[in-house]
Amino acid sequence: MDYDVQEIRKRFPILSRKIEGKPLIYLDNTATSQTPRSVVDAIVAGYDDFKANVHRGVHTLSQEATELQEECRRRVRDYIGASSVEEVVFTRGTTEAINLVASSFGSLFPQGGEIILTVMEHHANIVPWQLLQSRRPDLKIRVVDINDRGELLLDQYRSLFNENTCMASFCHVSNVLGTVNPVKEMIAFAHSRGVPVLVDGAQAVPHMKVDVSELDCDFYVFSSHKMYGPTGIGVLYGKKEHLLRMPPYQGGGEMIAHVSFESTTFADLPFKFEAGTPDFVGIGAFPKALDFIDEVGMENIAEHEHGLLEYAESRMREIPGMRIFGNAPHKSAVISFLVGDIHHYDMGMLLDKLGVEVRTGHHCAQPLMQRLGISGTVRASFAAYNTKEEVDAFIAALQRVIPILS
Ligand code: PMP
Repeated sequence: MDYDVQEIRKRFPILSRKIEGKPLIYLDNTATSQTPRSVVDAIVAGYDDFKANVHRGVHTLSQEATELQEECRRRVRDYIGASSVEEVVFTRGTTEAINLVASSFGSLFPQGGEIILTVMEHHANIVPWQLLQSRRPDLKIRVVDINDRGELLLDQYRSLFNENTCMASFCHVSNVLGTVNPVKEMIAFAHSRGVPVLVDGAQAVPHMKVDVSELDCDFYVFSSHKMYGPTGIGVLYGKKEHLLRMPPYQGGGEMIAHVSFESTTFADLPFKFEAGTPDFVGIGAFPKALDFIDEVGMENIAEHEHGLLEYAESRMREIPGMRIFGNAPHKSAVISFLVGDIHHYDMGMLLDKLGVEVRTGHHCAQPLMQRLGISGTVRASFAAYNTKEEVDAFIAALQRVIPILS
């Protein structure tokens, strides 16, 4: 593979920063990735050259801004293999997209309906369903467990389906364990029982090619900021047949066809779900992030990250007392770990002093922490611009801080 990581790094100005006088080693990509200059330039151009509210004006600027936003929608449609722009709704991120589905699609659930989640979900794919449940106490939430490697128990998943099951919602890739779930088979099984599926793709879309038509999922959600794009925007893909039936999530400008005090009608898809002024500057810049991924090649990025994962894990396993949480054979480049009885916060704080930025804590997955019997982990995660030398520096930093904290 012809993979010039140094050339890639040059596109990310932040990577030349220093932390505590040491070169920045950014290993918190699961929380958010860094942003290439091309995306930042597009954001600046959005303010310098195109700023006018979208879908509202006949004037040139507004039309240009609208065209940028709708060009992004077409790009996202093609990028994820959706069949129409009507199926691509812009949101604030994964979290808002799941809240939208839970609130709107959830309002159509039958009495006594059951929602299947998994124990490895991010809070964003738990709490919106609980909020729905607080309004609809007749609904039940059923939870799929994991095995010791951090893989879903698929037999249990299948056994949870019954005549009341009305929804299954699970992550494509776990943000803690890195497990890549067999979502295609899980979706096919749910469909064989007539159950629609939402896939939380926040940790998948930045690291693998995703085709929603091939997966045949009913909803797929993700955030731009984890895939080299701007913050504050995300995507809800939904099958048109569902989006048409769903009531609006929020009311306001842009989502209406006609408003009167007697009766209001709603705009066509996807605008019915896009109340208010969107982050059109961010949306307009998002295609530059997709360009970056396309230029480097998603397969190349995946192979590069996988190489870093294997190398880092093999070096980490040499460290006495190392426990890695998540050992599925099909795993994304996320390593959650603890060493001996060192607290994850202490480890994170000392690693930071050496320029190594890792995440510590429960990673918004408290039920999973409870399942693992721990309060949190240290988590290192890789992206297209990380290097083998950074892994070496990370391991050297671990070897320095462990004796201090033990
Ligand atoms: N789901 C998963 C699997 C995630 O990793 C995250 C972000 N950590 C989210 C949902 C929430 O994403 P956002 O904060 O961008 O809405």
